[in-house]
Parts: sequence; structure tokens; C-alpha cells
Amino acid sequence: MSDCLFCKMVSGEIKPDVVYEDEHVLAFRDINPQGPVHVLIIPKEHISTLNELEEEHAELMGRMFLTAKKIAEMENMAENGYRTVINCNRHGGQEVYHIHLHVIGGRQMTWPPG
Ligand code: 5GP
Ligand code: ZN
Repeated sequence: MSDCLFCKMVSGEIKPDVVYEDEHVLAFRDINPQGPVHVLIIPKEHISTLNELEEEHAELMGRMFLTAKKIAEMENMAENGYRTVINCNRHGGQEVYHIHLHVIGGRQMTWPPG
């Protein structure tokens, strides 16, 4: 989608701080990190929200979580732990309407979230 911020990162029009990329996903550092490590993993295909997920995206979503595991290892936070989050629509606090998996760590998380 031409007016989507994260699609512009996939196309290279905007260059984020990329930590991992393959054929299917792109992972880059969040501009407003909520912890010492805060990486966003996005599919290269534009999917607006979790509500737009279809059966055909099942493998892609699995790849996003495998990427989270990889990033946790790369950032040395696998053993201590980390949090993965996907926000959906207004009540979920979604601001960018291209699905993304937050991977946050490097500090103690609290629960429940606000
Ligand atoms: P959401 O609230 O949609 O789940 O998360 C959107 C995330 O994208 C936020 O954590 C926000 O800081 C991040 N973000 C927004 N604009 C940019 C940007 O231009 N570059 C990067 N790297 N992150 C961004
Ligand atoms: Zn997009």
C-alpha cells in the first residue's frame, strides 16, 4: 500500500534500523522504544490488522514468531525473557495499520498491561 509507513520500509523508501530481513519479514528497531530492546517484526505483505488475517497467512504468522525467537537470541534476552505483542484496532492501541509483532525486553515486564 503506497500510503502505509511500514510498506515504505519494505520498499526501501524509508530506511529503519533493520536488525533482520528475509523473503517474508522485516524486523527493525522501534523509534520510541519501551525497553532496552524493542524490535518490530512486520510481514512484507500488507495486512492491516489481525482482523484481516486469513488461512493463507498461517505460515507467515508462524514465521513472525520464529523471527521473534531469533531476535531474542541475537539480543541476548532469550534466557531472561521478553514480551511479544500485537495490538489490534483502537482498544488494542494500534497506531500503525500494517500488522506488526512487538518484541520488547532487556527489563522486567509487569502484568497486567495498562
Ligand atoms: P502500535 O501502537 O501500532 O502497536 O505500534 C506502532 C509502533 O510503531 C510504535 O511502537 C511506534 O513507536 C512505532 N513507530 C511509529 N512510527 C515509526 C517510525 O517511523 N519508525 C519506527 N522505527 N517505528 C515507528
Ligand atoms: Zn503496509
